[in-house]
Formats: sequence, structure tokens, C-alpha cells
Amino acid sequence: MNSIAAYFDRRQLAHAPLQELHNGGWTAYAEKASRAEQIAASFPDLRPVRDYGLEPLLQVHDRDYVEFLRSAHSDWRAAGRSGDAIGYTWPVVRRRRLKLDRIDARLGRYSYDAATPIAEGTWEASYWSAQTALTALAAILDGEMRSSFALCPPPAHHSGRDYCGGYCYLNNTAIAAEQARRSGRRVAILDIDYHHGNGTQDIFYEDPDVLFVSIHADPATDYPFFWGHAEERGEGAGAGKTLNLPLPQGTDIEAYGRALDEALGAVRAHKADLLVLSYGADTFEEDPISHFRLRRSDYRTIAGRIAALDLPVLIVMEGGYAIDALALNVGELLSGFVAEPKDADLIPQ
Ligand SMILES: [Zn+2]
Repeated sequence: MNSIAAYFDRRQLAHAPLQELHNGGWTAYAEKASRAEQIAASFPDLRPVRDYGLEPLLQVHDRDYVEFLRSAHSDWRAAGRSGDAIGYTWPVVRRRRLKLDRIDARLGRYSYDAATPIAEGTWEASYWSAQTALTALAAILDGEMRSSFALCPPPAHHSGRDYCGGYCYLNNTAIAAEQARRSGRRVAILDIDYHHGNGTQDIFYEDPDVLFVSIHADPATDYPFFWGHAEERGEGAGAGKTLNLPLPQGTDIEAYGRALDEALGAVRAHKADLLVLSYGADTFEEDPISHFRLRRSDYRTIAGRIAALDLPVLIVMEGGYAIDALALNVGELLSGFVAEPKDADLIPQ
């Protein structure tokens, strides 16, 4: 159904936590493997993923964090625990550098919430999710594809240099963006998940070369609360290279389209020659944990508008929890990248 190259590796399905802390109680883990399986089943010709090793991951993430992710579940078991490794105590910022060995302390040190349990297969799945983003990027850098789609569970954009959070462990989006920059590309990241991409923002916050633009639910009312406010614009050499466009709950395509125009204007002003699109389908009107009012057909409109930038686009899958609608929503977005350019005119101004 889609004529855009899509990449996925079944080892990404190894991540299967049992439960998460939500609204004061334990509930079934929302970022479940069936999300990816629904989308994967809609592609007749998923392309194989190559292994680029740890090096590109370590260009973004701290080595001690990566080593923590690799060993956290076995360390948890070695401490006599069953189930998933999950933190329950978090340091205040100035105590984060304390080196403590106990697994419970390290779970707090390297995470910021209780929504990110580490299960037996979490490292394997996260590793291959990052390789999927790198493989999809390589198809663009090698000139094989104009644009490509990385089906990336676990998702990426809440994970920072040395922390996991919000269902995210390795930041596939940032890893691909950094790899593209090191290949000489001028990179802009546009994050259109419902939630703010705090991890991606943190990674590039002082970076003058990589633009980060995000359209998301106002963090005054929505997760991740402590990032994504309009006044966050980057720091140091990166001042002005972060743009946050928070929108209220209930936003429909009209207001969304105006924010998208502003976001695309910033991408143009940055003179990017490659766009990394963090795509979350949790802006969909039927998403069970989110509160925007985008309809399925809006994704085609949004994609057409982004395609009108006339840039190569690496699309990296982030959130989206209306599982039965997920494959259709992804298909609608991708169709906007292969449609005639005139479709870009359909967005309300
Ligand atoms: Zn989200």
C-alpha cells in the first residue's frame, strides 16, 4: 500500500514489559509489541536492517548509560527480583552524579519516570530499533531513496543522553540525526508526536547545527510537564535552534496547520538539507491517552505540507496508542509523501 521504503527488524519485538505505573495504579504496558506488529503487517515489503554496531549509539548516549541499559535487567534479577526492573526513587538534579552501585539507585539515576520498565528483552529491542533508524537513514545518504520510514519500537524522543523515560530507551531520532550531521548533512528535526520530545531537545539543546522543532500538547497540562514550554529556545551556541510550539488539548487541523506553517518556516530558515521527522500517531482524535482532534485524512495533509519543503525526509516512528487505527494512520501519513505536490495546498491556512 505504501511506496516509500520501510525498515523493521523483528528483534525489536523482544521488549515486552508487563505493566506500568499509571494514574496511581499498575496497568498493562501501553507501548506493546502489537503496535509495531499492526504497522509491520501493512507493509508487503519491509526491508532488512543492517547492524552498525554501538559506535553511532555512543555518539549520542553516554557509555555508562548504555552499559546500564544492557545490564539493568540481569542486575535486577541478580538482586533477587522477578518481573521488570523499575525505579522507585529519583535523585534531585544536583545528586545525579553520585556513583552508586545498587540497581535501585541506578534505575533512579538513569531514568526520570516510572513509565519505563526494563524487561528482559529491552536492550535487544532498543538496540535494533536504533539500527532500524540508521539503516533507513543510510538509504537516503547513499542516494538509494529520497525518503524512508523507520518503524521504531521502542520509540525514542523521551530518551536523553543518559536517561530513559516515557517508553523510550535509546533516542533513535537523535542517533540518526547525529549520524547524518557527521556525514556532512545540515539537519533539522521536526517532532509531531502528541508529547514533547524532551530527550531529543536535551541532546541538541546547546548545538548550533541541528535544529529541533516540536509541535505538541502544552506541557502545562500534558506529559512530560517539565519540558516543551515555549520559552525553551536552546542555550549557548544552540540559542535559537530549539523551537517549541505547544498547543492546547482539543486542537484540530486548523490550529495545528498554523503551528505547522511556523515549524516549516523555521526548517527553511535553518537551510536544512535533510529532515528527520519524529512521527507520533497519538495526535489522532481516537488516541486513548491523548487529547488532540486530528483525523486520519489530516495526516496526509500534514505530510503533503512537509513534502513541499522538497527535502529528503527520514520518518521515525514514535508514539500512537489507538492500536487498531495505527497502521491506517501511518499509511495515510506516508501516502502524503508520495502524492502529487498539489496536495500540499489542501492544508487550511
Ligand atoms: Zn507521544
